Amino acid sequence: MGDPRGFLKIGRKPTPKRDKVERVQDYRYIYEPMPEDDVRDQAARCMDCGVPFCNVGCPLGNLIPDWNDLVYRDRWREAIDRLHATNNFPEFTGMLCPAPCEPACVLTINDDPVTIKEIELSIINRAFDEGWVTAKPPPPEKRTGKKVAVVGSGPAGLAAAQQLNWAGHSVTVFEKDDRIGGLLMYGIPDYKIEKWVVERRIALMEEEGIEFRTNAYVGFDPTTEELKRDYDSIILAVGALAGRDIVAPGRELGGIHLAMEYLVQQNRRVAGLPIETRPEISAAGKNVIILGGGDTSADCLGNSHREGAASVKIFTHGPEPPKNPDRLTWPDWPLTLTTYPVHEEGGERGWSVGITGFSGSNGYVEKMHCVRTERTPDGKTKYLPGTNFEIETDLVLLAIGFTGPVRDKFLEDLNLGYNERGAIPANGDDDFATSEPGIFVAGDAKRGASLIVWAIAEGRKAARQADLYLAGESVLSSLSGGTALGET
Ligand SMILES: Cc1cc2nc3c(=O)[nH]c(=O)nc-3n(C[C@H](O)[C@H](O)[C@H](O)COP(=O)(O)OP(=O)(O)OC[C@H]3O[C@@H](n4cnc5c(N)ncnc54)[C@H](O)[C@@H]3O)c2cc1C
Ligand code: SF4
Repeated sequence: MGDPRGFLKIGRKPTPKRDKVERVQDYRYIYEPMPEDDVRDQAARCMDCGVPFCNVGCPLGNLIPDWNDLVYRDRWREAIDRLHATNNFPEFTGMLCPAPCEPACVLTINDDPVTIKEIELSIINRAFDEGWVTAKPPPPEKRTGKKVAVVGSGPAGLAAAQQLNWAGHSVTVFEKDDRIGGLLMYGIPDYKIEKWVVERRIALMEEEGIEFRTNAYVGFDPTTEELKRDYDSIILAVGALAGRDIVAPGRELGGIHLAMEYLVQQNRRVAGLPIETRPEISAAGKNVIILGGGDTSADCLGNSHREGAASVKIFTHGPEPPKNPDRLTWPDWPLTLTTYPVHEEGGERGWSVGITGFSGSNGYVEKMHCVRTERTPDGKTKYLPGTNFEIETDLVLLAIGFTGPVRDKFLEDLNLGYNERGAIPANGDDDFATSEPGIFVAGDAKRGASLIVWAIAEGRKAARQADLYLAGESVLSSLSGGTALGET
């Protein structure tokens, strides 16, 4: 522990953000780097707890007190080694993680938590700047001759691929999109993670010997039979990208879209790539309504403002969650109101709104018909009679969740079934084997829509299990603790 009185002398300092009027004009990263002296001060707040709850709150089991101390002592090189010991991609979590470790931090009992996420990001940024993050291919004598196919290139697939490659297996990642990264590339906006950050990591992994195949929709090209014939083991990291739709009169009108249809097009637009799906969806000049209140909704909001929407309204059918007046901590923190930086940029939030339908003319939506709702004691949503109202709109984005992996030809061919979350069943919470020997599942495909930190943690664990299956023993770390805290 660096400074035993640090937490008494120094308050939590939030990560600086770019001015909201300026940042909404572009798609660059929202936050500014925290000055090094401030990062060191923030690290000094860590109490090096006997039982570090931050470590338990982190699905990766990140060794948080260790690297807080190393940063305080200006030993950044060792800090990145400690960080990489449990997390393959700290730059992804440092930028994107909702940081379930922070509400788990012991300081939250009567103070604000350590700025763990900012310290993580500062460590990895410094490591890249110093040239400490380099490709680490396994030595040739370590190659096992076994071939592994990873299907899906999101954080779960990438983590599994890197681990299995380090174990000496020959790894090919198949991705149906034209670029690698899963939701990191197509879905999450550039202002949350600029795409060169993802590409920088992919380039290192290619140097390490991992083969990436884009535009490779497994089930079609290659076929499921070819994949099973040509590979000794398969990791399913296909995500949970089937968007939940709304059933209401008028849903068929033009101008009502699943959020992901819009977000993928936006990422392509920002990257200067052609928009291949139709119709082309843009929020520019529109009165936008976003249904849903999670990450996906917030990403539609930020993009709509950056495109120059005339107005944006966000509605959820449930009541407004508490703003955390009672300093709720672990494990109640997920029940409090989440406010993202994009909410500071504008838009109107509304709660307890139910949808009864849509209407319009010439095949396009013009109005959303609504009713007030109430939460019943058993947690159901009740529509209140006589409270109907309508709102004018010309673009409605449905960000109301995901129903599990897309049930495409590949999954139908594999015939592994689906669990109550619509996801691919595995042998247990901490067991990634499916009912078919040699086939493992990780990330959103196993959990249902979740978080990047969980995807990385599960990719690592599934890789270890696949390594045990292929080699009988595993050199891969079993580190990755964590609880189910912090899912959205
Ligand atoms: C809009 C949005 C914003 C989010 N923001 C955040 C955030 O800020 N922080 C956070 O922690 N989490 C966030 N999440 C959740 C997070 O992105 C996911 O939990 C995470 O990406 C899951 O990783 P994954 O590897 O399991 O799947 P994914 O990232 O979904 O990747 C799956 C990949 O598999 C590919 N694939 C599927 N089937 C096949 C096939 N048959 N052949 C070849 N390829 C295939 C898909 O094309 C896709 O690229 C967000 C989610 C969404 C939708
Ligand atoms: S719980 Fe908070 S104060 Fe304790 S070791 Fe973790 S980060 Fe430091």
